[in-house]
Amino acid sequence: MVTRNALLYLSRHEGLKDFATRFSPFKKLTTRFVAGEDIEQTIAEIRKLNALGCTASFDHLNESVTRVEETNEEVREYLRILSRIDDTGIRSNVSIKLTQFGLDVDPELTYGNARTVVADAARRGNFVRVDMEGSAVTQVTLDIFKRLRGEFGIDDVGIVVQSYLRRTETDVRELLKIPARIRLCKGAYNEPPEVAFPDKKDVDDNYIKLMRMLLSSGVYHGIATHDPRMIEATINFVGREGIGKNAFEFQMLYGVRRNLQEQLARDGYNMRVYVPYGKHWYPYFMRRLAERPANVWFVMKNMFRG
Ligand SMILES: Cc1cc2nc3c(=O)[nH]c(=O)nc-3n(C[C@H](O)[C@H](O)[C@H](O)COP(=O)(O)OP(=O)(O)OC[C@H]3O[C@@H](n4cnc5c(N)ncnc54)[C@H](O)[C@@H]3O)c2cc1C
Repeated sequence: MVTRNALLYLSRHEGLKDFATRFSPFKKLTTRFVAGEDIEQTIAEIRKLNALGCTASFDHLNESVTRVEETNEEVREYLRILSRIDDTGIRSNVSIKLTQFGLDVDPELTYGNARTVVADAARRGNFVRVDMEGSAVTQVTLDIFKRLRGEFGIDDVGIVVQSYLRRTETDVRELLKIPARIRLCKGAYNEPPEVAFPDKKDVDDNYIKLMRMLLSSGVYHGIATHDPRMIEATINFVGREGIGKNAFEFQMLYGVRRNLQEQLARDGYNMRVYVPYGKHWYPYFMRRLAERPANVWFVMKNMFRG
């Protein structure tokens, strides 16, 4: 827990971010979790996943963007991604972060930016997933999502909830009334005990409870986890309730538990892999290390191997 918190603290450290991003041997090590530097490299990786029976969610890494021009550039990048998905015929939707579109400075700007991307995806018959970030922006993220969902269809835009947050059960009940497509994950940020369950057991118990609520709703949701216990609980639940394999999808991150991803696809489950790319990999990469501190040793070993 100490290591997790320390790594999450470092994930927000600007000085270390600048150093790591410029230090080229470090960048090489990110390839386990980051598909590439640009759209075309990422398309090549997604093609491989598609060939294994997995779909993808294309993600341009960037967050906490405060310059308006940079948020506009993020929008243009997503429009390019959506266009290239159509050109190439790869099976992929997109994931966005609202702080990438200016949430830390102006929710109205953020809404306009997100709306442009969702409108383009809707026109193309594609889908935008709004990732969930730290608890300081949970409410405003939900508010913007609900506005978008009011304007666009259930198959145009979806949201993410985190089982570590105490508030999430209430949020899920509200979101299901709309209704909305939801990705369920455990949560990847450093949160105080007032807002998030500090014990892993409570996070996991809540995950199973929320998974059951979601999969009983008749809406197509994403069960995002690498945890074999959560996956087993999901498979047992849908089997018991007679919920079809096509009524939901499992989701995992690029580079994590690849064998399990392939196995679930072979077993006939819908399997979507979240595929991030781009120069701003540092906070995402650090969160992946925090999830499994053993990854730190993997990184160190490879760094000093040269
Ligand atoms: C598709 C997808 C989208 C996500 N979107 C969001 C989001 O929008 N907001 C958010 O807060 N979080 C998001 N997350 C991250 C999530 O919240 C968790 O931090 C992450 O998935 C680890 O939790 P877990 O369910 O895999 O279970 P854990 O209990 O953390 O891990 C279970 C087991 O999985 C393996 N594992 C987990 N992570 C790693 C790793 N990085 N490297 C190697 N092995 C690992 C380990 O063997 C571990 O023992 C997303 C995760 C996925 C899969």
